[in-house]
Amino acid sequence: MDPGLRFWLRYVDDRGGLTERAGDSTLVVLPPAVAGEFDLPDEFVVTAEPDIAREDGVMLLATGHPVLIQAADAALSDGDVGVISLVAPGTPAPGAELLEQRVRDQVSVEHGRIDVTGLPVRINRPVLRVGALVTYTVSPEECYQERLECWIDAGSGCQLGPDHIARLRAAPRSERPAQAHAPVLDAVSTALRHAHSILDAAAERRRTALSDQASDAHRREHSHARDYYADALRSIERRRTSADPDRAKLLAARAASTREERARRLLEIDEKYQARHVIRPYRLHAVLVPGWRVPVDVRRGPRRYPFAFEWLVSLGTFAEERCPHCGEAATLSVSKTRLGCVSCLPAAG
Ligand SMILES: [Zn+2]
Repeated sequence: MDPGLRFWLRYVDDRGGLTERAGDSTLVVLPPAVAGEFDLPDEFVVTAEPDIAREDGVMLLATGHPVLIQAADAALSDGDVGVISLVAPGTPAPGAELLEQRVRDQVSVEHGRIDVTGLPVRINRPVLRVGALVTYTVSPEECYQERLECWIDAGSGCQLGPDHIARLRAAPRSERPAQAHAPVLDAVSTALRHAHSILDAAAERRRTALSDQASDAHRREHSHARDYYADALRSIERRRTSADPDRAKLLAARAASTREERARRLLEIDEKYQARHVIRPYRLHAVLVPGWRVPVDVRRGPRRYPFAFEWLVSLGTFAEERCPHCGEAATLSVSKTRLGCVSCLPAAG
């Protein structure tokens, strides 16, 4: 099905309309408010196939249709914000021995060893899904819009890889409406800063790639302007050398103002081709990923420092943890006096 029509039918479903597919066309029943908003009948048949639309009473609705653009604008302005709970595990936590083995395999601690010290506790760890529409302007003629998305573990601020994202997208969601409790909201607002810098960095990389393509036009326009002013200045100079003193003075002044104009014009051209991007966020989901908090001691000889790791059931892995001392997302390390990481503890330990 045409992606534009598919989007629109989902949009209609979300707004309380009904859609029923029959072959290449779809029967749509709209609530009166939505029908009024889009200036459409309450009930009609749509298709993205021009051949079918030739039949009586079937409306052609495909990418580019004003109704789709209006719906996309509305979806972007309203935003898509909410808390999503993944279904809690139906089985008990893995045994302490297995968890200990897994945490030792996954998390390395310099000069230390991890011992599990107690029973796991059920938790939901918030993961942020942030989506934004980015508009890139690379020249007066070239403007692109693209979608950017990132998933961030709120606890550590670390970005999730494609494999983990795919698993979370596929994980069954709880039917019960999820509550946005204060700790979740706190974690979300802290992680948003990370989300913004991740999206901004990705947009900047993309913008550089796009503006490289525009730089040919920029160079051409720059060199045309330079040639034009060089000609003008040469002609003024030629006239000045053969002119009487009064006129020569006038021409010298004109040459000076032409040079100023050239500088202004070249700056204008550079500004015109100054690539820009604007990030317009439209989606913020807090996905509550079920897991088990596993209490541990990080040991160095007889010294023990209590800590905890969180086993995420849907991902089959422990979440990344930041250094409890300095907050860096670096390899943990343990000294004779405290637990830290390789960036806040001296290398010699
Ligand atoms: Zn540290």
